[in-house]
Amino acid sequence: MRVLRRIVSRFYVYILWFFLAFLAVGLLFSRLGDTDAAHKVTLFADVPAMEDAALAAKLEEEMPEGIRMIKVHPFSYAMFDSDNLLSADLYIIPASHVEDYAGSFRSLAGASFDAEGGYVRDGELWGVRVWDAARGEGIAADYIDYPDEDCWLFFNAGSGHIRSISGEGDDAAIAVARRLLAMRGESSTERGEDGMREPAQGLPEGFLLGMDVSSVLAEERSGVKYYDVDGNERDLFAILADNGINTIRVRVWNDPYDANGNGYGGGNCDAAAAAEIGRRAAEHGMGLLVDFHYSDFWADPGKQFAPKAWAGMTIGEKSEALFSFTRESLETILAAGARIRMVQLGNETNGALAGETSWPNILSLMAAGARAVRETCPEAQIAVHFTDPEKAGSYAFYAGKLDEYGLDYDVFASSYYPFWHGTLDNLAAVLSAVAERYGKQVMVVETSYAWTDEDSDFFANTVSAQSAVDRPWPYTVQGQAEAVRAVIDTVARRTTNGIGVVYWEGAWISVGTNSWEENREKWERDGSGWASSFAAEYDPEDAGRWYGGSAVDNQAFFDASGRALESLKVFSFARTGAAPET
Ligand code: CA
Repeated sequence: MRVLRRIVSRFYVYILWFFLAFLAVGLLFSRLGDTDAAHKVTLFADVPAMEDAALAAKLEEEMPEGIRMIKVHPFSYAMFDSDNLLSADLYIIPASHVEDYAGSFRSLAGASFDAEGGYVRDGELWGVRVWDAARGEGIAADYIDYPDEDCWLFFNAGSGHIRSISGEGDDAAIAVARRLLAMRGESSTERGEDGMREPAQGLPEGFLLGMDVSSVLAEERSGVKYYDVDGNERDLFAILADNGINTIRVRVWNDPYDANGNGYGGGNCDAAAAAEIGRRAAEHGMGLLVDFHYSDFWADPGKQFAPKAWAGMTIGEKSEALFSFTRESLETILAAGARIRMVQLGNETNGALAGETSWPNILSLMAAGARAVRETCPEAQIAVHFTDPEKAGSYAFYAGKLDEYGLDYDVFASSYYPFWHGTLDNLAAVLSAVAERYGKQVMVVETSYAWTDEDSDFFANTVSAQSAVDRPWPYTVQGQAEAVRAVIDTVARRTTNGIGVVYWEGAWISVGTNSWEENREKWERDGSGWASSFAAEYDPEDAGRWYGGSAVDNQAFFDASGRALESLKVFSFARTGAAPET
């Protein structure tokens, strides 16, 4: 009966995966290639601190039964180099059920299915790989479910490394991991040269490790609470500071409200909000990076709308307005006690700023902003910010324009989202070229990576399992950490004059997990979604049509309940090689 229930539940979960992804709990296991090869196994988490003797003993008892339970997880990810598997999540399946899965994966991937592969051992299939050779990527299948405990265990098939341990039962997961390793004749070791526990070589003392938390005040208004990795409720800023973050980034919009005082959303980030965020950052020993969008709402390569109040101005008038706005905003932020470390003259200003699209006008505005920064907070560095580093020649072009017009700035900053922005080699090359030619410092002011495919607030995320984007790391807690670690290493070690990396909106999590209706009420009332309906007057084509919640809750460093993920430790690991002390 129990077996029958498990088999039924396997299909049940498979069907519901698309709708109820939170049902996916279990143990992940991989075993590929030469099964006799020595597997070095490393733990991502700080194991000794997480052990729970009672739980471990309980699991030890149950283990032999536990590893035979099966579910399906169609979205696990594998990367192939021609037909050599580089990495994959693979799971144990009983051989008798292989064909059930084969059909599913064929239809899912339109791919070939290899049920042989040398992975059948002791009547169980220890690995399935499904791949589409034309696309050069694969989808691997299935995992073990460990009954009664909600935990995941990911192995990297290529190296045998444990990639992540997560879930409701982190302690349980680690105990299970150790038992599995023992059964496989393997032992756990500290993470080696490819791991995250090594401090980044040459990471300077002052290297900027930042977090953009522009949405935090709105999140808190909506009732969001944050917990450290041990589950203690704490101030978000305290958690971030303890995990190695030394700089908080905040966007500033001129007037993100309609005439009735309704916020446009996205945190309703005006200068007053930035001042409050800067004050709290300073209280926890962190500096502030002020990101002026010079718009009343989102500014990016797709839109650089001028603030409502600047409509109809000549470029001379607009430059003066920008100067005044910058100075007054910085004064407000400083008066609150913030320690402004850097100021950005616009956000992702690829050929446009505050409604201006000619370089003489853009540079006139930037020069006015630079003047205001120098006068108001001479200690702060001035940054310019562009994106799409993968577009050949674009950064050299922008830097050339800034030089041609003699803009006074210190830092040439880039966004780098691995989904869209090309390789890290390219990023290092294009930033280094600017640094070397113009003697500027360079950095990444926005990056992020997904730790899960799943959405948790009923508003679709920018990146999900179905997204046709680059996916250099799996969407796991470990994958997220490795992505961030790789960006830090690239900027710190492989980029000329690289001074820092800022993660974008690492705390913008779901405001509730009950229903879209409940969340919508909060997004509209508190500005905790990416846009409210009130933004339609300013941005009818985008916000007016698609307003809603967080599109990046699966890229935060906190789960849907607000608890910090293990991956948040990556900043401390990068700096010292040690887990943060709390
Ligand atoms: Ca979402």
